[in-house]
Amino acid sequence: MNTDELVAQIEFFRDIGVDSLSVEKASSDVSTRSAPTTQHEESNGMGLESIRKEIGDCQRCKLAPKRTNIVFGSGNPNAELVFVGEAPGYDEDQQGLPFVGRAGQLLTKIIESINLKREDVYICNVLKCRPPENRNPEPDEVASCNPFLKKQLATIRPKVVCCLGTFAAQTVIKTASPISRLRGQFFDIDGMRVIATFHPAYLLRSPDKKREVWEDMKQIRAELFRLRS
Ligand code: URA
Repeated sequence: MNTDELVAQIEFFRDIGVDSLSVEKASSDVSTRSAPTTQHEESNGMGLESIRKEIGDCQRCKLAPKRTNIVFGSGNPNAELVFVGEAPGYDEDQQGLPFVGRAGQLLTKIIESINLKREDVYICNVLKCRPPENRNPEPDEVASCNPFLKKQLATIRPKVVCCLGTFAAQTVIKTASPISRLRGQFFDIDGMRVIATFHPAYLLRSPDKKREVWEDMKQIRAELFRLRS
């Protein structure tokens, strides 16, 4: 972490109400799976590649003609923790990578707040193409794209999935409840522990909600510990 990144991280802790930090040498806090070591772990990467191939130059819904890039997802194919967002925005559409804009920078700080790095987790979205003007996803678009998200999760088989915002939460948890009711508790979905929290883009508009996200992140950290022991 360079000095700018360190300052940004400390600012994030200040924003979420952490007023003292204990400094330790190399952290063994939430350790992560590293390079593939087993056949099963290597096959996760291949499994994701084959899902990406199946998507191809997707024309399954009305978002296809306006997108620049399909944003499939990125990160560790063997991740214990997967973040699911809503849909690519402008920057993501341009680069073909999830959460690389301002909301993505905040997501990186959120991930690092529980001693993980972006490369340790996997990040993807419900929709793989940008909705025009960043409008909300429409039901037919979610219906076209959700089977691929399901396949990604079934391939990675993470211990914990964190849904970012209303659309991800409602899609993965299969409910119409609002995010304010869903966040902060675990659901058991298809063998995974699923939790929802506020979307980083919402946090940029409502920074007072960062404390709740910090509470959710602490729950994720504790759940990862619990599931490992
Ligand atoms: N918002 C999302 O939901 N996903 C992204 O990839 C970027 C912004």
